[in-house]
Amino acid sequence: MAYPNAGETRFLSLLTGSFSTPAGGNPTVAMVAAAYRDLGLQAAYLNCEVSAVGLADAVRGARAMGWAGFNCSLPHKQAVIAHLDGLAPSAELIGAVNCVVRREVGGMARWIGENTDGQGFVASLRERVDPAGKHLVLLGAGGAARAIAVEAALAGATRLTIFNRDPARANELANLINQRTAARAVALPWRGLATVPGDADVLVNATSVGLAPDVDARLSLDLDSLRPGMLVADVIPNPPRTALIREAEARGCATLDGLGMLVNQAVVSIALWTGRQANPVVMRAALQASLA
Ligand code: NDP
Repeated sequence: MAYPNAGETRFLSLLTGSFSTPAGGNPTVAMVAAAYRDLGLQAAYLNCEVSAVGLADAVRGARAMGWAGFNCSLPHKQAVIAHLDGLAPSAELIGAVNCVVRREVGGMARWIGENTDGQGFVASLRERVDPAGKHLVLLGAGGAARAIAVEAALAGATRLTIFNRDPARANELANLINQRTAARAVALPWRGLATVPGDADVLVNATSVGLAPDVDARLSLDLDSLRPGMLVADVIPNPPRTALIREAEARGCATLDGLGMLVNQAVVSIALWTGRQANPVVMRAALQASLA
């Protein structure tokens, strides 16, 4: 059947979404949908349950349907790279992709992997302190820590101190920073209580300690080494007021919760897909409502 208005585009939506498993608890769709509404965009974000064996077909499907791009979350952040045409420089350094973007190059669609997790963290950090010239202390050396360390170094942080339970992972991350960026990183063994060095400007919990439902879990950290004037950030988005954030506030530190990173990585993803600047206030409110 031929439609009378063939040639029009007003019934076509810009398509984006997320591939992960399990996907059911991922609240990103709530904040991205709120951002698209607020921008008045005819765009959709589909939260898709995609297994490891289904990833290649899911990416092919998104390409075939002309999606503008998609997020990928666990367990696909590294596996997706094999299905892409290229990587943005920081995603190549981090070795993981959480955002794929369709770019038209010479009339051809090329699918480029980006990592907006670390960019989201740095955007959130910049609302309080410019990382340039600063000493950051990272707890953790997993995917989130890696993204944060690389982006902080690219944003001009001069020193990184990395604590991780598994020392090999901490050493690997410190080596990456030392070999591929201008920042200097050291990996310290995390045995017993970690002490934050006296000249640290920013402490970041980039471990999964404190994530719901394990909200009573405590970091092995000397809380007396938190000083007023230091910024303490937590990547845990749920609950946003973690035990670390509460303890840091009680000691007079400035704090940054994990919602800021989550909202800002989506702001960056939306800008890459649509060229539009989404409103982080609208998105944070939608996210908080969906997590409540
Ligand atoms: P990974 O599994 O890659 O890394 C987990 C990290 O936590 C490792 O460094 C691990 O240490 C450490 N860890 C786990 N349990 C403990 C413990 N009991 N004591 C000390 N260290 C511990 O996960 P990700 O890096 O991908 O995610 C980490 C957290 O970041 C998650 O909670 C996730 O929700 C959050 N996150 C938040 C984002 C946001 O936008 N706010 C974005 C991405 C992630 P070891 O190597 O020794 O096992």
